[in-house]
Amino acid sequence: MFYEIEKSERVKRYLVEWVSAFGFRDSVTVSGEMRLDQKIKELKKHSAMGVKVTQTQDAIEDLVYKATNSCPRCGGYEIESDGVNFQDDCIVADMGCNTCENEWRITYEAKGVQEK
Ligand SMILES: [Zn+2]
Repeated sequence: MFYEIEKSERVKRYLVEWVSAFGFRDSVTVSGEMRLDQKIKELKKHSAMGVKVTQTQDAIEDLVYKATNSCPRCGGYEIESDGVNFQDDCIVADMGCNTCENEWRITYEAKGVQEK
């Protein structure tokens, strides 16, 4: 299994805001167009008014954090690393999930060296 973080992890997210039939303001964030359609249908059914949809997107930092700190199978954050090794010009880390026993490898690319 290999996936590129930027291409596959960027999911369109939508902030849906509305006013309920009782006059209360509410909002929710949904991922993907299918869930957005479902939410809008549900709101119409419940006679919500002033439905407003704004498209948002996760920051790349959040996506990288999620990809390197959670299990790609179950999404759990109880993960362990066997440390880093080198392969060609990349740094690789073999990872394991304590929740579902999944094992995977993260490939890091060294971008530069900077003295602090
Ligand atoms: Zn897992």
